Amino acid sequence: MDIIVGIDLGTTNSEVAILRDGQPHVCTDEDGDPILPSFVGLSEDGRLLVGKAARNQWVLAPERTVKSIKRKMGQDVKVNLGDQEYRPQEISAMILKVLKDRASRELGAEVKKAVITVPAYFNDAQRQATREAGELAGLEVVRILNEPTAASLTYDPSQTALRRMLVYDLGGGTFDVSIVQAQEGVVEVLSSHGDTQLGGDDFDELLFNHVCDRFQQEHGVDLKANLVTRARVLMAAEAAKRHLSYHPFARIEEEFIAEKEGQPLHLNLEVSRSEYEAMIQSQLDRTMDCVQRSLDDANLIASSIDKMVLVGGSTRTPRISQLLEERLGQPAHQEVNPDLCVAMGAGIQAGIIAGENVGAVLVDITPHSLGIKCLDDSAGFMNENKFARIIHRNTPLPTSRSDVFHTYRDRQTEVEINVYQGESEDVRRNHRVGRFMVEGLAPVPAGNQIVVQFDLNLDGILKVTARERATGLQKQVTIENALARFEREERDAARERLQRLWLPEEPFPGAEEDFEEDYEEDIEEPAEGEVPELSPGPREGQREAVQARALLEKAERLIERVSPEDRGEVERLCANVRTALTDRQWDKVAKACDELADVLFYLEDA
Ligand code: AMP
Repeated sequence: MDIIVGIDLGTTNSEVAILRDGQPHVCTDEDGDPILPSFVGLSEDGRLLVGKAARNQWVLAPERTVKSIKRKMGQDVKVNLGDQEYRPQEISAMILKVLKDRASRELGAEVKKAVITVPAYFNDAQRQATREAGELAGLEVVRILNEPTAASLTYDPSQTALRRMLVYDLGGGTFDVSIVQAQEGVVEVLSSHGDTQLGGDDFDELLFNHVCDRFQQEHGVDLKANLVTRARVLMAAEAAKRHLSYHPFARIEEEFIAEKEGQPLHLNLEVSRSEYEAMIQSQLDRTMDCVQRSLDDANLIASSIDKMVLVGGSTRTPRISQLLEERLGQPAHQEVNPDLCVAMGAGIQAGIIAGENVGAVLVDITPHSLGIKCLDDSAGFMNENKFARIIHRNTPLPTSRSDVFHTYRDRQTEVEINVYQGESEDVRRNHRVGRFMVEGLAPVPAGNQIVVQFDLNLDGILKVTARERATGLQKQVTIENALARFEREERDAARERLQRLWLPEEPFPGAEEDFEEDYEEDIEEPAEGEVPELSPGPREGQREAVQARALLEKAERLIERVSPEDRGEVERLCANVRTALTDRQWDKVAKACDELADVLFYLEDA
């Protein structure tokens, strides 16, 4: 069988993937890094540098470094590298050669053939230049593949049924949105829009400007004036941007960043996610306009899209999936690593051409959202059961996410953290997996910030940390088996529902809510520092509690039409049931229920 590799030749980064046991695998460098920055340079002593080394010297030696060559592909131009001039395909060939060698090393045999991806909007000249670049690197280019098509292959490699996917691709320098239709292995790009000057680099620049402005205000020093300082701040801003994808705050710290009157100045600034999101909002709005145009061009409405897929490193900014979900009314998928998705799809296509068996990409994800219960008065009334998601469903594992919450009352010195799993906006319809208290908070006015962090590993162990931001006071619990629990509870709940069908009473309205509530109440409060235990199976007393609630409801309905004497008796029997329920004395609950059921039976027939 032919060896064919799949290559994502990107503006900012490039990767090469091969198919191994039906699964795409992205080849790595000696450090285990799958990403090759698309930078080519010459070192001071004239050596050719490709990748990280070239990227690292770019700010200091731009005359000896070439970046974003993809933007020039297909143009009749030359770029300078040292004292030589090169055509864009020659520079791209240098990148391709490194990827080819990387894959050959992993496979233990020379790679001679490749599938290379290009943006859907690339014209013939650009495609031809890409093909030439491959040939210059010693590769026969067996297919030029559209990037959105490659991305769609990672989510649905067989593509037999008719499916339409919207692929939103936001990288470092460019943005594309495409609508891809696939059926019986024939894939068509129905429409594609984009902006070749919009991407993560712009977001870095906005954050960078914000940091420089703040520093200028505070110290009267312009950080943009010096090239090296500029590069340091820009890199720190990029790192902060990444951090803000998972956490509500990021601290930008650079020591000895400048000098004033002979004194060293340090950069130390905190940025919140909401501040950052406001900075990039207009850029994101532009991408949403492109989404709408793509739908219009394909003559489709949002609901005709079967799947929405996120590609490109910048799509890790959570605001993007939020906006898309609002616009399209369905979840955005980014289970397949958005940096590697296109390369993996190219690897899948390469495998298909080589005649290999290809399976859907396997990724470990959390099948349910995890979050906490909180108060929410944004709709003009107090909702005490709001589910605030911290880890969203389909997030690849392991993952670490945090969000910030506020105390509601003045001088509130404790908060209860209730951890839930599920998809409903109302926690009562979800499943509580743990609960703990954080005590000893500072007695300050309402609005004290509490950062709640979830760390979920591949084994389903969830570490929940709540930290008072102002003081650093924190408390943590570990919840074992946070992934499996839902299935088990769902199974138990289904079993309970079935059991309920066998109860002598008629079906009762609102039984489901009652059941959920009851279920929730029954979780034991863990002692200080203790790991909350997960219930191993159906709870003790669960059946009695469900039956009791059903009877109490029935009694409430019947009590209106009974005589005053009977009413007193019913109220007494109801009180017995409630007391037994409160005391969790299940024998007594069952006995009190029997007595109440007898009377209700008599009253119903009367
Ligand atoms: P790509 O061109 O697809 O490799 O994407 C590169 C861009 O993704 C760069 O601008 C990165 O800063 C950005 N990026 C990578 N990781 C994250 C992240 N966690 N949050 C936000 N942007 C990111």
